[in-house]
Amino acid sequence: MLKTDVRYLKGIGPARGRQLSRLGIETIFDLLLHVPRGYNDRRIITPVSDLVPGEEFNVSGTVVSSGYLRARNGKSRFEAIVRDNTGELKLTFFHFKYIAGRLIPDVRIIASGRIDYFGGISIVHPELIFLDEKDSDARLVLPVYPLTAGITQGVLRKLIETVLDEFVSEMPELLPPDVLDSMGFGNRGEVICRVHFPDNPEEGERARRVLALEEFFVHQALLKHVRTEAAERSGIKMIPPAGSLSEFVCRLPYSLTGAQQKALDSIAADLEQSLPMRRLLQGDVGSGKTVVAAAACSICCRSGYQAVIVAPTEVLASQHFRTISGMLEQAGIRCGLLTGGTKVSDRRNLLESLLDGSLDVIIGTHAVFEDRVVIPEMGLCIIDEQHKFGVEQREKLLSERDPSPHFLLMSATPIPRTLAMTIYGDLDISVLDEMPPGRGSTTTRVMKRDARNQVYEFLLDRLRNGERAYIIYPLREASEDLDLKDAATSFEVLKRGPLGEFGIGLLTGAMKPEKKLEVTGKFVSGEISVLVSTTVVEVGLDVPQATVMVVTHAERFGLSQLHQLRGRIGRGDRDSWCFLMKGDDCGAEGARRLAILALTNDGFRISEQDLQLRGPGEVAGIRQHGVPAFRIASLIDDSDLLEMAAAMASGSNSWESLKNEYELRFGGLDILEI
Ligand code: ADP
Ligand code: MG
Repeated sequence: MLKTDVRYLKGIGPARGRQLSRLGIETIFDLLLHVPRGYNDRRIITPVSDLVPGEEFNVSGTVVSSGYLRARNGKSRFEAIVRDNTGELKLTFFHFKYIAGRLIPDVRIIASGRIDYFGGISIVHPELIFLDEKDSDARLVLPVYPLTAGITQGVLRKLIETVLDEFVSEMPELLPPDVLDSMGFGNRGEVICRVHFPDNPEEGERARRVLALEEFFVHQALLKHVRTEAAERSGIKMIPPAGSLSEFVCRLPYSLTGAQQKALDSIAADLEQSLPMRRLLQGDVGSGKTVVAAAACSICCRSGYQAVIVAPTEVLASQHFRTISGMLEQAGIRCGLLTGGTKVSDRRNLLESLLDGSLDVIIGTHAVFEDRVVIPEMGLCIIDEQHKFGVEQREKLLSERDPSPHFLLMSATPIPRTLAMTIYGDLDISVLDEMPPGRGSTTTRVMKRDARNQVYEFLLDRLRNGERAYIIYPLREASEDLDLKDAATSFEVLKRGPLGEFGIGLLTGAMKPEKKLEVTGKFVSGEISVLVSTTVVEVGLDVPQATVMVVTHAERFGLSQLHQLRGRIGRGDRDSWCFLMKGDDCGAEGARRLAILALTNDGFRISEQDLQLRGPGEVAGIRQHGVPAFRIASLIDDSDLLEMAAAMASGSNSWESLKNEYELRFGGLDILEI
């Protein structure tokens, strides 16, 4: 019954069904768990003299007059004037069949609703409590729900009230009774009733926390299950010839940082086990993840297996191919590049050499996920910027393979612990928390638009000095709706100006793969010194000579996203500058956000701020994938519950009994069973 579509409920037609669907409500289960965003405690009364238009208030007073009025269009309405000892308020009703007879002079009421200014302060269609009617069953504490156009609080409250009566008893118990008891509730039905209609807001919040705990618990139980299953699979023990890893490391033009060495030690230890590795390598932009990946490949290939490296874009895949093959081919390890843009004949050769084992490492985009790409001796799979891929894709590469390949994910999106526990709770984590030495500093300045000439002069100066620059726009093409600069138009303008002399190129996501590679190739080689682009350069491009970045309409970007963008500069030994240009309509809030970037280069701090300001779904790049859609729990406010849920899940084997609940909640299994 809980899975029943709400449209089968009495009184819900197609239009209402669509509105509910906009709120994420499809089933009766969804409706039961459409938790209020707060409560209106109607015992908290505001004097009429303190009312402000646009906000919701409760007013208590006596009706002094009431009556019908007819508007010019012939429609009539009913108005009542209510007085308290500070002033008068008008209540207006366009539907008044039931109300008119009761709203008569001397009746005492509490009226609740949003204050409008409409021929004096007024509330249109207030919710009423009649204080003199003894057996009034009006609730003093009302739930306030997230709404969408066309649905009012009243409608939703009624609907949920009906559904609670009829269906709440069908909700199966979920949390252990002692946990429920310790949080002050007897059973799940009671929790759900109380979250909607509590005696006081505190009780409602307590109920919400129980439901948040449930939600984390279900998700943590899944992660526990995935870990348990993974631990049962047989892996590949990799035993490279003695000394081959240190040989690889010695040949590098630099020595590894302490953090790189530590991560590599963990990886080498994992690869020796007969248990498949499942590890996340997390490190801020520029922390040097690529060389760690290459070292892992060398262990794999020197042990006689093949490795796969997947990157989210062609540009990044080709760059990885250049860097990694440069490091590996010296050791006799053969690498190939496979992307959507690979020519048919080249592709055939690649696939053949994968099959006959003459190719050791295949580097590419999601093209390597295709079925016809057969990697017979796959021992290691590395995914860069893993959050750009779905969990399904990552598991597809691995599923049904026995023994199971080792698995390394890389991510430059530093995320707070709560988020990591949620997204990567099924993985071991290594963190590169140390930057390679010898880097110049990066200075970030937030600038007003009228300072752009100064920035421009500065930029020209750096270019004359032989350095390179990125100019970033929020859009790739002009848009009629948004009055924002776009990359394509600006490129046309800039290339005719003084910047043109230094060679300037355009890189946007919509360009053909060959074109993208051509432009980045020119920027890497120095044939052009200015790259005009969008967030496509956000991931991974490594050009140490680039020292200046100008971001227009910087307030349009998320903090983590800007941090990723900024990671494209400051990669060489020279000092770098990042200019965040504020748009004219950047408000105080936007300016405050940008100021955080000027203050710190620490990606973890930035993403924590981003998480607080914009919520988990918006933290750069993770939006598309990976963050389960928690409907009740907040990764910011309920982090204590997450810890509690993780502890509960690790101590139990309750997955089987929670599977159904998981599907109801998260709309199917987003982590494939493996
Ligand atoms: P990211 O973690 O962002 O992927 P990269 O792997 O692209 O970082 O490395 C950034 C730059 O740092 C590259 O130019 C790389 O050659 C250089 N690098 C990596 N490790 C070291 C090191 N230990 N010492 C000096 N430079 C290093
Ligand atoms: Mg990288």
